[in-house]
Amino acid sequence: MHKIDDNLAKVMARIQRAAQESGRAAADIHLLAVSKTQPATAVERAWQWGQRRFGENYVQEALEKKQALAHLPDIEWHFIGPIQSNKTRAIAENFDWVHSIDRLKTAQRLSAQRPSTLPALQVCVQVNIDDEETKAGVSLAELPVLAQQVAELPNLHLRGLMSIPAPCDDPRRLRATFSRLRDAMESLQQAGVPLDTLSMGMSGDLEAAIASGSTLVRVGTDIFGARAPRD
Ligand SMILES: *Cc1c(COP(=O)(O)O)cnc(C)c1O
Repeated sequence: MHKIDDNLAKVMARIQRAAQESGRAAADIHLLAVSKTQPATAVERAWQWGQRRFGENYVQEALEKKQALAHLPDIEWHFIGPIQSNKTRAIAENFDWVHSIDRLKTAQRLSAQRPSTLPALQVCVQVNIDDEETKAGVSLAELPVLAQQVAELPNLHLRGLMSIPAPCDDPRRLRATFSRLRDAMESLQQAGVPLDTLSMGMSGDLEAAIASGSTLVRVGTDIFGARAPRD
């Protein structure tokens, strides 16, 4: 068995067990395979296994891979990296989802640049859940206003929230952090913003994220192996 097949099976088993332990249906938790820095051949291997959702952080790299894999049907491309304003057009034209909206201006550009031939761009607002100074994302205090504004943009469909918590070895603290994001989603739902996606959990913390309500885990290393450092 190929290593990527084996890894995908293991990650799916982890998702299933974590779902079961928190009394949730595994079918409610989607796996996003984060393929940044990995070659198109690795993505194709995962696709052959049955994986359909892929996450990328770097626009140019993603476009090259997407072109190389244009023969694969049903593949879904998610942009999960920081968004530079000179890249919004390429993102709007080439991705199905964007998880890293953290400014109204970026959202407005993506909406204006989304081709009318494509369905609405599915988006999440990224939240800086630990209030780390260096981290991307809006604070919980800024979230309600931005979410309302993004929800009104015509060519975007606001689906939920995304977060990358600070690394932490204590599963209880991690669960508390992830639960703050879930609570934020619930308050927005109560305020009339219809959200259904909590993009949280990665290779090292997907169990804690699922226990706190994650509906989409973003896993790179545990599927494709360690990434070479990027220069
Ligand atoms: C790279 C990345 C991931 C995957 O992280 P792993 O620890 O390799 O699973 C998930 N989310 C985002 C936003 C990333 O940039």
